[in-house]
Amino acid sequence: TTEQWQAGIRIIETLKKLGYEAVFVGGAVRDFVSHKEANDIDIATSALPDEVKTIFKRTVDVGLAHGTVVVIENRVPIEVTTFRTDGEYTDHRRPTDVKFVLSLDDDLKRRDFTMNALAMNESFEIIDLFEGQRDLKNGLIRTVGEPIDRFKEDALRMLRAIRFTAQLGFTIELNTLNAIKSCASDLSYVSVERITAELEKMWMSTNLDQGMIYLVKSNLAKQLPGDFPFTHKKWTQIGNPKNVLMCWTFLCLLQETPDGSELARIFKLSKDLKQQINQLIKATQIRYERLFSIDDIYHFDKNILIHAELLSRVVQSDIQPMPIEEIDKRKLSLPIQSIRDLEVSGQDLMEWFNKPSGPWLKEILTQIELAVLHQKVVNNPTKIKEWILNESNS
Ligand code: ATP
Ligand code: MG
Repeated sequence: TTEQWQAGIRIIETLKKLGYEAVFVGGAVRDFVSHKEANDIDIATSALPDEVKTIFKRTVDVGLAHGTVVVIENRVPIEVTTFRTDGEYTDHRRPTDVKFVLSLDDDLKRRDFTMNALAMNESFEIIDLFEGQRDLKNGLIRTVGEPIDRFKEDALRMLRAIRFTAQLGFTIELNTLNAIKSCASDLSYVSVERITAELEKMWMSTNLDQGMIYLVKSNLAKQLPGDFPFTHKKWTQIGNPKNVLMCWTFLCLLQETPDGSELARIFKLSKDLKQQINQLIKATQIRYERLFSIDDIYHFDKNILIHAELLSRVVQSDIQPMPIEEIDKRKLSLPIQSIRDLEVSGQDLMEWFNKPSGPWLKEILTQIELAVLHQKVVNNPTKIKEWILNESNS
C-alpha cells in the first residue's frame, strides 16, 4: 500500500543520509514492476543489524542471525536486512552461516529467481542485474545463475518455483525446469515444515491447478513426504477452493482409505487443523451417501458442512448438489444449536427426579437434547419436565 511504500522510502532516506546504501528488494519489487499490490515490503541495506537498531527508535529483532531487523516506521513494520551472501551449503537446505557483505550486487546474486532479484531505489528506479524485468514480462521463472547449482544449494527453491507458477500463472523456463527434474530427489533434504508452508501457499493461489500440474511434470510430486495422491488427475479439476483445510482434506479423500491423522502427522499440521480435516472427511463421506440429516446438520459446524458439500461435488461428480444457502438456513432453523441452548440444567433434573448427581444426568440430558432437536418436545422447562417424567415412567 501507499503507506507501506512511504514508510519504506523514509527508512531508505534515513539510511542514505547516514552514508549507507539501501534499496527495496524481493517480492515487493517484483509485484511493483508487474503492477500488483505487494504483501510486505523488504529493504536491503549495507548497514549492519546493530547499526539499524541504533538508527531507528522502534525496532523488533526477528532474525538477527540472518541480518533481519523489523523497523516500525509510522506504525508500519518493514523488514530491513543487511546485504549478505550465504556461506557454504553443506546439506542442500540451509547455509552453514551467512556473511554480511558491502555490495548490493552480491546480495542480489544469492537470490533464487531473476524476478526476485530486482532491486528498486527510493525514486522507484529499478536495478536489474539478471534481466528479471524481461522474464517478468514474459512470465518466466528462471534461476539466477546455473539452475542445477542453485537447486543443489537449497532444494526448497524447486518447490518455490512451483508455488510461483500457481501464484503468478507463470511458466518455468526450460533449463530451470529440466534442472528441477534432475534434482527432484534432493527435496528429501528439505524440512517438512518448509514443504508444508510452500504447499499451503500454492493452494491459496489463483492458479492452483497449474501448480499441481507442474508438481507432477517436474517430478517433485513423487518426492513429497508420505505416499499421498498428489499426482491424482482430480487435482486439476479442483478449481479454486483457496483454503488449506479443503486442500488437505481433498488430498485425503483421493486416497483409498482416507486418513487425516496420518497426513497431519507426516506434514506436521497443527492439532486444530488435524481435527478439522478429520471432521471434514467424515462429513464429506456422509454426503457421498445421502443428503445431510437433521442430526448431521446439528452435529457438524457450519464451516464443515459447507466445505463437505463443495468437496463432495468435486470428488464425486454425480452428487445431487444442495445449495449452500440451504445448509445455512437449515442450521439456523434448528430448535437448538448446541446442548448449552437447552432450557433445563442438571440441577433441574436432580430436583425433578430427586436423585443425586451421577452418570444418569448426562444420559437424560442427551435424551432431552435429541427430543428437542427432533421437535418431540419444545425447549421450555415446564414442557420438558412433563415430557421427561412421562418418558421415564413408561
Ligand atoms: P511472497 O509474496 O510469498 O512474500 P517473496 O518473493 O517475497 O514472495 P519471500 O519468501 O518473502 O518471497 O522471500 C523474499 C525474497 O528473498 C525473495 O524474493 C528472494 O529474493 C529471496 N529468497 C527467499 N527464499 C529464498 C531461497 N530459498 N533462496 C534464495 N533466495 C530466496
Ligand atoms: Mg515476501
